[in-house]
Amino acid sequence: MKLLENKIALITGASRGIGEAIAVKFAEHGANVAFTYLSSDEKAKALEQKLAAFGVKAKAYKSDAGDYAASETLASEVVKEFGKIDICVNNAGISRDNLLLRLTPEQWDDVMQANLKSVYNLTRQVIKPMMKARSGSIINLSSVVGVRGNAGQSSYAASKAGIIGFTKSMAQEVGSRNIRCNAIAPGFIETDMTHYLKDGGAEQWFEKIPLHRFGKPEEIANVALFLASDMSSYVSGQVINACGGMTT
Ligand code: NAP
Repeated sequence: MKLLENKIALITGASRGIGEAIAVKFAEHGANVAFTYLSSDEKAKALEQKLAAFGVKAKAYKSDAGDYAASETLASEVVKEFGKIDICVNNAGISRDNLLLRLTPEQWDDVMQANLKSVYNLTRQVIKPMMKARSGSIINLSSVVGVRGNAGQSSYAASKAGIIGFTKSMAQEVGSRNIRCNAIAPGFIETDMTHYLKDGGAEQWFEKIPLHRFGKPEEIANVALFLASDMSSYVSGQVINACGGMTT
């Protein structure tokens, strides 16, 4: 059964990793997909073709999620091209890990802009067409690190904790218009972002994860599919931890 037939989804940062897996999962379930990336032109082109092979409409947009004006342009171009936005996944994100005494103001600002301001930027745009349609699902990628913190990741943790506060506020602000807003807090997922952890000895991390392994991007995409579809029609303002049990 296809869960997103005729839905329009906008996903940020889908040229790689979790965003790519979400785009593929959504297309597999019949959604037309607009997605963004920052610099991976070839990967974005290849993904466009991969998604179109599912018989859906797919279009890549090179757009910096941290740039407010670019997000405004993006949302209006997507509405023009696709007609509406039913689902928005704020996935684009970066990490600049460092102990606080070494963390530069530039590193702090880069993370806040790409991870947190980006969520404000695009959500502010997409709720307009969603309010008009009196329907919508917004899904924000937080992190287990935003829930419980992590030494050496203060900027990343703060940005991801900020996303949780934003998500809960949005759910309360736009719920009366039938717009739902939820967050996913993944644990360690096998993508470029966590590659360095594996090099540093994955076993030491597995000790802290009850399922004793890193997650796969597809396992996060399954949670996103649930939150995007009508299967979660009475779920809003929630943070779903998909972390192999790390937060228990
Ligand atoms: P990733 O493999 O590093 O991929 C990041 C994606 O975001 C790429 O498509 C990149 O585009 C795009 N991107 C980065 N900055 C952008 C910007 N300013 N504007 C537009 N696109 C931008 O990351 P990931 O591991 O899939 O993570 C995806 C999300 O999940 C992030 O928000 C991350 O914080 C969160 N998360 C990840 C993990 C994990 O263990 N991997 C755990 C918890 C939460 P380019 O290819 O063009 O650079």
